[in-house]
Order: sequence, then structure tokens, then C-alpha cells
Amino acid sequence: MMSTKGYAAHSATDYLAPFDFERREPNKHDVQFEILYCGVCHSDIHQVRNEWGNSKYPIVPGHEIVGRVTKAGSRVTRFKVGDLAAVGCLVDSCRECSNCKKGLEQYCKNGAVGTYNDYEKDGKTVTYGGYSKQIVVHEDFVLQISDKLPLEGVAPLLCAGITTYSPLRHWKVGQGHKLGVVGLGGLGHMAVKFGAAFGAEVTMLSTSPNKEVDARRLGAHKFALTKDPEQLKGLKGYFDFIIDTVSAPHDYNAYLKLLDTNGIMICVGVPPTPMEIVGFNLLGNRLSIAGSGIGGIPETQEMLDYCAENNITSDVEVIDMAYINEAYERMMKADVKYRFVIDLATL
Ligand code: NAP
Ligand code: ZN
Ligand code: ZN
Repeated sequence: MMSTKGYAAHSATDYLAPFDFERREPNKHDVQFEILYCGVCHSDIHQVRNEWGNSKYPIVPGHEIVGRVTKAGSRVTRFKVGDLAAVGCLVDSCRECSNCKKGLEQYCKNGAVGTYNDYEKDGKTVTYGGYSKQIVVHEDFVLQISDKLPLEGVAPLLCAGITTYSPLRHWKVGQGHKLGVVGLGGLGHMAVKFGAAFGAEVTMLSTSPNKEVDARRLGAHKFALTKDPEQLKGLKGYFDFIIDTVSAPHDYNAYLKLLDTNGIMICVGVPPTPMEIVGFNLLGNRLSIAGSGIGGIPETQEMLDYCAENNITSDVEVIDMAYINEAYERMMKADVKYRFVIDLATL
């Protein structure tokens, strides 16, 4: 085992604080890399605070990880020492079920292994994430990244990027479609960028009036302040798709009314409490509510390659490790532009 430094929370009410722990020595299929940057996802806050009820303490969050390879096992073929490498939300899966065989590891029928707050395949070793100096991951779950893009802007692609890219590709959102994006945070700003890049007309649906200028700069063609009922009324029946990225409990029915006949509401946000849907809002317009979880390994690589070709990165505010608790407080107030990314050199 080798010792590494990180930041962890020890209970649902604790602040994150320095934490020393051990990682396995890389075996023949593993890649070990020094973490350079790690994005801060709202899922980190949900799990640190046990809002989903499944937290295993101490918890070292972080699943938007980029770094440089320091060791590669003897059977590793795609990475060598000195290469850039990245890891997203998954570090293992069964590789045998029908979903794994299709590259949909996130829906592994035997349970994929999350990058943190999960158990390795041995059923007892807890996984620790990217708020740390180094990580060891099976080569199959390590992604290749371009050296042409700023690394700090690439890190959030590993979760915020793929979580929005995947459903927009699945439902073939593009030219001729009207897409509404609810919530301009980490996921939301990537949904705006991808939606616009795929050719859809994008409308930002936000609770924050001060985000309008940025929303348009990110690629939104229209902006509506969702706290203003008049602005929502004007969008009744307007959208083909809405992607909802909101992290807090909110009224989904208000957005269902904005969908055109046969419209699809894609829910990627995971608030701590269940959603309440009025049935008439669905049947009155033959609407569908859908969900989508991150993305599989092949699609994550496809998204990273697409971003490299099209010069797409996340808009980030780089922070020191010690700023993390303040960053969480700011995210709770929707004060994020549009992803905090930890510079691990400060740990
Ligand atoms: P984030 O950066 O904190 O952004 C969330 C945004 O939602 C805020 O910036 C805000 O945008 C809006 N919002 C916050 N509170 C609100 C409220 N009470 N009412 C209305 N809008 C509100 O969060 P994130 O990292 O993008 O994550 C968003 C959600 O997606 C989280 O629940 C996270 O766990 C989930 N997630 C899911 C997956 C998946 O696989 N499906 C993957 C990653 C994350 P405005 O200021 O524009 O209103
Ligand atoms: Zn995430
Ligand atoms: Zn599987």
C-alpha cells in the first residue's frame, strides 16, 4: 500500500479537512497518476452531507479527475509514465453483463463501482476520489485527454460534460429542436454549450438574473428568469426537450407546461427529495419524463475527443484545496461560474 494525502468529511455535518489514507500499489492492469485538477460536482455535496442516505465515512469526494501518469502496470497498453490521464465517476464494473458489453458501464447490471463512496469489487474496500494527490485505477476506466486544452477546463468534462453530452446524443437533440436548460451551474453550462454545438436553439431557464449575460456568451439563444411567472407563461408549449440540472427540490410541473406535444423532460439533477408530478401535466400533451446517468467509458472518450476537436471546455474558477468548504457554501447559493476546480498542487 502507499500513503496519500486528501481531504475528507468524517460525518454529514463535518467540514472537509486534511486526511491521510492508503491506496493500493498498482497491479499489472492499473494506472497510477498524480492528480493535477479535480472538479467539484454538486453530487460531492449531496454525498458529503449524506443527502442520498448512502454515505460511507470518511468520504473523499471528487470524480472529475485529470493528472499525469506516474506508474503503469506491466499489462497496461494505452498509458505510459508522463502521459495525461483522466478518471470520471466510474472505476470498475463487471465487464460481462449486456450493458457493460455495450459500453454502458454506468448501468452495469451487477453494479458499477463509483470513484468514491463505493465499494471495490472485493465488497469491502471503500473507494476514495479525486480530492487527493494520487489515484490508482484499472486501465479500462482511465480516459485519454488532449494536451491542447487547458487541463483545469477539461476536468469537469468527466462528469458535468458527459452527463449532459450523453442524453443530448441519446435523444439526438440538434438542428430544428428547441432545448430548454434548467439551472446554470456545472451541468447546466455544459448542456448549453453542447446543445448549441449540436445545432439546437437553446433557452436558459434560470433563477439568477445576473447569469443572463454569461448564458448568452456560453451559447444560449434565449434567457428566461424562472422566478417571473410572466416569462414562463410566454414559453408555454415551446420546447421539444428540457434538461433539468437543478440540485435542490423544485417544482417540475412548472417546466412540464413548457414542453410541446410529445416533449421529453430529461432529469439529470438529483435533489434529496422525490419529485412530485401532476399526472395531467403529462397526459395532457403526451409528455415523457426521462432520466440519464453520467455516461459509459466509450461515450466519455467520444465526448472528450469531440471537445478536443471543437475546442470545448468548462468555464472554471480554480481554487485551493483549503477553499473547498467555502466553495460548497457558494454552490448552495447558486454562486458558481460555472465549476469550481481544485488545483491539487495546493494540497
Ligand atoms: P450546481 O453547479 O450547484 O448547479 C445547480 C444549479 O441549479 C444552480 O447553479 C442554480 O442555477 C440551480 N438551482 C439551485 N438551487 C435551485 C433552486 N432551489 N431552484 C431552482 N434552481 C436552483 O450543480 P451541478 O454540479 O451542476 O449538479 C446538478 C445536479 O445534477 C445535482 O443534483 C447533481 O447531484 C446532479 N448530477 C447528476 C448526474 C447524473 O448522472 N445524472 C451527474 C452529475 C450530477 P440557476 O442559478 O441558473 O437557477
Ligand atoms: Zn458529478
Ligand atoms: Zn456489467
